[in-house]
Amino acid sequence: MAQVVNPMRLVQKRGGLNPAELVPLLLAWFRGNARDLPWRRTADPYAIWVSEIMLQQTQVQTVLPYYRKWMEELPTIGSLVKARSSRIHTLWAGLGYYTRVRNMQRAAREIVEKHKSEFPERFDDILALPGIGRYTAGAICSIAFGQPTPILDGNVTRVLTRLFGVGGNPREKKISADLWRLARILVESAAVLKGRSNCSHLNQALMELGALVCTPRQPKCGTCPVNFRCTAYLEGRVGELPELPRRAKTTERRFVAFVIESNGRYFVRQRPNEVVNGHLWEFPNCELSDGRDVGPCVAARAVLGCQPNSLAAALTVKHTITRYRITMEVYRARMTSPGRLRQSMGRWCSLEQLNRLPFPSAHRRVVNWLSRMPENNS
Ligand code: SF4
Repeated sequence: MAQVVNPMRLVQKRGGLNPAELVPLLLAWFRGNARDLPWRRTADPYAIWVSEIMLQQTQVQTVLPYYRKWMEELPTIGSLVKARSSRIHTLWAGLGYYTRVRNMQRAAREIVEKHKSEFPERFDDILALPGIGRYTAGAICSIAFGQPTPILDGNVTRVLTRLFGVGGNPREKKISADLWRLARILVESAAVLKGRSNCSHLNQALMELGALVCTPRQPKCGTCPVNFRCTAYLEGRVGELPELPRRAKTTERRFVAFVIESNGRYFVRQRPNEVVNGHLWEFPNCELSDGRDVGPCVAARAVLGCQPNSLAAALTVKHTITRYRITMEVYRARMTSPGRLRQSMGRWCSLEQLNRLPFPSAHRRVVNWLSRMPENNS
């Protein structure tokens, strides 16, 4: 049963939990503790947009090299519009959720066509762009343009539910709406203080506090700048909040993939646009489903349309995507007539070409493995 919350009552209760007190504490903490990240050294909305999209579902440390390379190669909206699809996929390869990068290019085209190549400043205009939701639009408006637009992501949700003692599932409509209202009250309180960057810093302070201090496990409440006003801390409920639903059980999935080489070239294929990891390249593979114990020979015949002369186990790649724990067994397949592989199924590429193509991370690991083979280093 969702807990009914009145945001104004929450900020007023205890006679001290009020934004006028909390906001300066959060701003001062952010000034002294924020990590020095490249997207924090700019007010360029394009750069902030790129960082925000990359940071969705992805850790800061993982994003850093991707962000630097992207900004080096595609520093402007114009350069993103002109970039080839294979280039943007290669720059994104490894970050996953590739619809994000395709939406970015669509959004960039809209900015050029509808906004004369100027990043729009109005919240509604930004929200109307492909792939941009309420959180990202709020982040761009506040960080790049200093507007009092709230943000609410996983980190901010955790901080707000604990600070204000908000029970119930934060993903439920009513609770979520209350949390958005609390986030708005805080950022609007920052806007009335003296200083140009307050809205940007307040929103980033909430994100940063959630990332560094108010962490999901073992939060560092002892060093938290708002601990003496935090409801969860004072009531001993930190471990209970936020009341997120249980995660779906993990599911094991097993794939087999085949590395076929002929005269120094490897056979790879491109995934169709409409599937997961669409547009990316991969080694021919299939999922072994239904718990049936299908051997690699049967799988090879099904995937390649013909029987290889021999199969040798090469490596096993393990990785996790959302709730799936995936094991991919990779075999080297020898074929006396590789020409039997239909050209329409894929294409033959040198190792150098493979290194330039975008692969999902599991298949990229196979390319890296091939690059380390003695035959490719002589
Ligand atoms: Fe989070 Fe602890 Fe700070 Fe409360 S006191 S906001 S639970 S870190």
